[in-house]
Amino acid sequence: MLKFVVLSNAFMGFLKGTKLYSIFTGKCPVCHNESMYKTANPYKLQDTLKMHERCSHCHTKYKIEPSFFYGAMYVSYPVGLFFAGAAFVIAYFGFEASRLNTFFAILVTMIVFMPVIMRLARNIWINFFMKYDPEKDPKVD
Ligand SMILES: [Zn+2]
Repeated sequence: MLKFVVLSNAFMGFLKGTKLYSIFTGKCPVCHNESMYKTANPYKLQDTLKMHERCSHCHTKYKIEPSFFYGAMYVSYPVGLFFAGAAFVIAYFGFEASRLNTFFAILVTMIVFMPVIMRLARNIWINFFMKYDPEKDPKVD
C-alpha cells in the first residue's frame, strides 16, 4: 500500500503542470496547489460537489459564471461511458460473465463510481477553460 502511494505520488509529480494533474487530483486548474473541493473524499456524499469559491493561492474563481458547472453534465456522459465500457470489458471478457450479469456489473459500477465520475467531469470541464500558469504557482523554482 505504501509502495503504491509513493509510486502514485511520483507519477502525479511527473504530471504536474499538465491538465491531467488537475483533472486526476481535483486541484486548482491554474496553480495546481490546492484542491478545489472542500472535502478530499468524494464519497462523503453531501460534500461531493462542495467547492471553494476561490483558490487561496492564486485567487482563481472556480465558478466563472453562474451555473458554470452545469456544463460538466455534458462531460459526465462520456466519462460515465468510459467507466461503463471498462466494467463491460472486465466483466464480460475478464470474468466471462453472462450478458445479464455483465449488465448488473455495469449498473453497480455506475452507481459506485458516481461521485468520482461527477468530480472528474467537473475537473475536465473547468480545465477546458483554464490552464496551468507557472507564474501563479509559488512552488515552482
Ligand atoms: Zn490556484
